[in-house]
Amino acid sequence: MTISPITDLINFLDKSATAYNAVLTAAEALQFHGFTQLDEKEAWDLKPNMKYYVIRSQSALAAWQMGSGELTGVRLVGAHTDSPGLHLKTEAQYSKSGYIQLGVEIYGGPLLASWTDRDLSLAGRVILKQAGKLKVVPFKSDKVLLRIPQLAIHLNREVNELGLKLNKQTHMPPILALESTDGSKLDTRLLEGLIADTLQVERGSIASWQLECYDTQTANLSGLNDEFIVSGRIDNLAMCHASIQALTSKAFSAPQTAMIALFDNEEIGSSTENGAASGFIRDIITRVVSSDGLNHQIQRALANSACVSADGAHAIHPNYADFHDPQHAVKMNRGPVIKHNANHRYATSAFTSAIFEQLAKEVDVPVQHYVHKTDLPCGSTIGPITATGLGIPVVDVGNAMLSMHSIRETTGVKDHEMMIKVLHRFFSKDDLLSVENDDS
Ligand code: ZN
Repeated sequence: MTISPITDLINFLDKSATAYNAVLTAAEALQFHGFTQLDEKEAWDLKPNMKYYVIRSQSALAAWQMGSGELTGVRLVGAHTDSPGLHLKTEAQYSKSGYIQLGVEIYGGPLLASWTDRDLSLAGRVILKQAGKLKVVPFKSDKVLLRIPQLAIHLNREVNELGLKLNKQTHMPPILALESTDGSKLDTRLLEGLIADTLQVERGSIASWQLECYDTQTANLSGLNDEFIVSGRIDNLAMCHASIQALTSKAFSAPQTAMIALFDNEEIGSSTENGAASGFIRDIITRVVSSDGLNHQIQRALANSACVSADGAHAIHPNYADFHDPQHAVKMNRGPVIKHNANHRYATSAFTSAIFEQLAKEVDVPVQHYVHKTDLPCGSTIGPITATGLGIPVVDVGNAMLSMHSIRETTGVKDHEMMIKVLHRFFSKDDLLSVENDDS
């Protein structure tokens, strides 16, 4: 039975509480569609038209369908697996005022107020010691474990006028439990016990862990006509999902290699071993290009390559319409958004914008154009980093969304389906770059 891309997205969001869980969910979908996992440490024997994927450091993934003949270049769609949030400190557990709490660091730029008064739990990865070796396993507790309670209005009378001001060190640690009152000695390694019970392993086998808080509320459709999807991590798991769907849902054959790159650590600048600033995708492309025995130059392959960097875009907010440039007020369910910035915070050029718009037109999808309000600093994506690292033309696109970096974001149902169509066209069209590209 095939399920709709929107139901599939909702499942994807729910299973992917952190980047580690997201990569595993992606790998499951790829395996289902006949992709073979490769190990970067092994030799590869790549064949035309065959489908492969690689996971680097458990939280980044590249997947591709080999070109059908002479390997001429790569169509790359890039997205990111990480989302802003609260990561547990190494020695997280402490007691205060009769409560047991967990110290957290702030990862990236979350809207902190949205994390208060939510039913939180823990997910990430755990390192186990097994038979003298270290083994990395995913972790996700389904139990509601944590809460960051707001101060009652009776103790914070001006909060609605002055706004909720949150100190990252003192106001964000969630409460895990109450201290017992029966005089029993406090277990200072409660987290280890929790991890061991959840994974059903011995406490002594746990070497280390990397855990994040996540919201246990599941993704949902919302709105009178079910026009919205509401969930955590829509930025940027929605675009990870769209790229996987474009690569897998409808078979295609193309002379060029179609590839997706789901990087970690975009929210903190991408400079990690599996972030967009690493050599991850250049390494993969180098191996793909040299795999047919013709010893193609990587430089020639890159000259025939292009990238779509897919990430969230800011929909106009009706209650804050003044925060948007009136000429570029993009709306949900009106089509994918091409993002422009003169200072190249987005990598789009006039050339790549025209290519994406043409692709959309060919599959009857409208597009919108976004430029940030000039007197506000503009965010960025993996687009400029990928353009710099690979030296290939990049277009920055995304779907319009509200509440970016909130624990609960909102995006449009129709836009998701439209984005998948355009990305599929990008992968399968064979004469994408055959224009008189003096301006490329
Ligand atoms: Zn993003």
